[in-house]
Amino acid sequence: MSKRRDGRAPPDEMSEAFTYNGGRVDPGESANIRYGISETYLGDPVRIPVTVINGAYPGPTVFLSAAAHGDELNGIEVVREVAHDWAHENLHGTLVCLPVLNVPGFLAQQRYLPIYDRDLNRSFPGREGSTSANRMAHQIFTNFIEPCDLGIDFHTSTRGRTNMLHVRADMDRPEVARLAHAFSSNIIIGSEGPRGTLRQEASDADIPTITIEMGEAHRFQRELIDRALTGVASVLAEYRLHPDSSVHWPGWRTVIDDRDEKTWLRADVGGIVDMKYTSGDLVHEGDVICTITNPFKEEEEVDTVEAPFTGLIVGILENPVVYPGNPLCHLVGLEQDTLLALERELEPTAGVATELF
Ligand SMILES: [Zn+2]
Repeated sequence: MSKRRDGRAPPDEMSEAFTYNGGRVDPGESANIRYGISETYLGDPVRIPVTVINGAYPGPTVFLSAAAHGDELNGIEVVREVAHDWAHENLHGTLVCLPVLNVPGFLAQQRYLPIYDRDLNRSFPGREGSTSANRMAHQIFTNFIEPCDLGIDFHTSTRGRTNMLHVRADMDRPEVARLAHAFSSNIIIGSEGPRGTLRQEASDADIPTITIEMGEAHRFQRELIDRALTGVASVLAEYRLHPDSSVHWPGWRTVIDDRDEKTWLRADVGGIVDMKYTSGDLVHEGDVICTITNPFKEEEEVDTVEAPFTGLIVGILENPVVYPGNPLCHLVGLEQDTLLALERELEPTAGVATELF
């Protein structure tokens, strides 16, 4: 099952084997594993794909996981490219690549486990002898998360919405904050994760873990995938798994915590939303973000939704139908210097003009 890769330096004697229930991957080897975490109604195994790449040189063990929500596809490609397209001859440490955690949900193209619609990402660290979701989470957690030193779990927005690529991390924990900074995204939203999420439960088990939110469910968004790959490379540089690479600086960054101005703007009327902006756009206080109509509304009657403060649209609805109370967009306030840096990025000619003087 394991195979030595060609053209690599001999294993360093300090390196250790990666072991899981029923197998091991020695230093300088990689393995593609289909690991059984449950059984179907037919009694067949439910197996998740795992690629373990154990570097020739000693270093930290890092997990990369995706599709804990089965319809969130962007992260699958991020993890696949790291596992199979990147050169690992000079890897100092071990990568545990888990591109599809929720295989039943992925096959059904839905967010939750099809069995009683359980949320796998509220089931960690899992428990033996418990529900099907808890047993699957337990298998994943004990075999492939607990042996790691840190991890990155990739998500997208929920179906019908989209968001900018951003990090979610418990910034009160210094080691989690180090990882969040290393990923080099423009936006970090600091908060404790809900109980049962992979990032919170792994972090509680002293495995600093962050979540990456990127784009839409049911989509494959190349620009976001490439930005996430830059983030992974930056993390591998920070923790010296790729000691010759350097940490990437995203140009500007803002860390939003619970004390900062941020809000999900919600519809106060039902209807169809004509959205004027997209995620990643800057809006100023008083700008009309969207209008809401219905089939009987005349033009002068449409409801308008204005920005309550100047900020960045991090998340936004894609499916334009709303009940009162449904979210329209996730708006976050920015510090003045971040705002200026962002305005410069959005209008690059202004920066050039300044430099000419
Ligand atoms: Zn998700």
